[in-house]
Amino acid sequence: MKIAVLKEAEGETRCAAIPETVKKFVALGAGVAVERGAGEAASISDADFESAGAKLGSRADVLKGAGVILAIAGPNPQSLKGADKGALLIGGLDPLRRRDAIDGYAGAGLEALAMEWMPRITRAQSMDILSSQSNLAGYKAVVDGAAAYGRAFPMMMTAAGTVSPAKVFVMGVGVAGLQAIATAKRLGAQVSATDVRSATKEQILSLGAKPIFVENVAGIEGEGSGGYATEMSPEYQKAQAELVSSHIAKQDIVITTALIPGRPAPRLISDQQIASMRPGSVIVDLAAEAGGNVEGTVSGQTVQKHGVTIIGASNLARSLAADASALFARNLYNFLSAFWDKEQGRPVLPEDDEIVKAIRLTQDGKVVNERLTQ
Ligand code: NAD
Repeated sequence: MKIAVLKEAEGETRCAAIPETVKKFVALGAGVAVERGAGEAASISDADFESAGAKLGSRADVLKGAGVILAIAGPNPQSLKGADKGALLIGGLDPLRRRDAIDGYAGAGLEALAMEWMPRITRAQSMDILSSQSNLAGYKAVVDGAAAYGRAFPMMMTAAGTVSPAKVFVMGVGVAGLQAIATAKRLGAQVSATDVRSATKEQILSLGAKPIFVENVAGIEGEGSGGYATEMSPEYQKAQAELVSSHIAKQDIVITTALIPGRPAPRLISDQQIASMRPGSVIVDLAAEAGGNVEGTVSGQTVQKHGVTIIGASNLARSLAADASALFARNLYNFLSAFWDKEQGRPVLPEDDEIVKAIRLTQDGKVVNERLTQ
């Protein structure tokens, strides 16, 4: 079984394999072919891949005879000419926003597997690219926020006087939010956080931060289905807006991460609330790509409003290319090795497996995933 690792398109810094996963695939009995330059932006040289046991080549070389094709982002189907029919194409394929490309994979006879649709079950935790990349994004959001903030984070008592600690407020305590809390604490800030899921209250406390919760209207009890939130009632939204208004005016840095699967990101901060913040404050909106939690966010850009800097963070994991590649590559290895059939020397994906059903998009020339066919 030959595994091809593609060089990503312009703008993508990450690589779907690292020398460690190449070695592990070789140990499983697979051959690994890496497209030349694939690891460059993630500080992995062709020579590093070669010494791990990979063969280097052009796109056409690596695709020829490959049974598995690994990528970070979904490649243009045109760029996969020459791939074998039935080959598995595995990566973050963004199925809902790239429907034409998914049809293209089906037309080419590829079996496309979308890693972002991994179900949230214990068995799949080590294969979950959303978690591995969000964790890094949560860290980087705080670092970027600190860099844009014209003051220090920790309290400092110096001969020239005292510097007061920054107040950081994290809205949305999923994977990214938890890491943002932990990072801001490490930098010495006073941290508070909020979510709609009641299960996060204890997680916030365990990180030494202060939970700020709507008390008079019920939120989501416990974890919510699959860990995900749903859209809240107008009554809850009103209560939340009032709570945020009274809290946000006293905050220096706000990190927003709130997402609802399949819906635009909930609006959590209005223009009026931004105007109530102290000039020089910073908001990092990690939901920018999903429409933003903050009024006026522009995805991929930094804008100023009422003297407040609003960073429309888009795909922050890309700016930590080496670590993000390592975690993504291990997610891919963990997935493939879990389904590896030693006797056949290749991955075997059972039709009725919960993971397979969730992530398989195309098979035998057709789009087969329910989320795309319904
Ligand atoms: P997410 O990216 O979907 O959303 C981020 C956070 O925003 C969530 O905590 C959500 O509750 C919150 N949010 C949504 N609407 C909000 C609003 N109006 N106001 C405030 N907050 C709002 O979440 P995520 O990072 O994917 O994580 C969600 C949960 O799933 C976590 O508990 C996580 O530990 C869990 N999880 C489990 C697995 C697994 O078991 N395999 C994998 C990943 C995550």
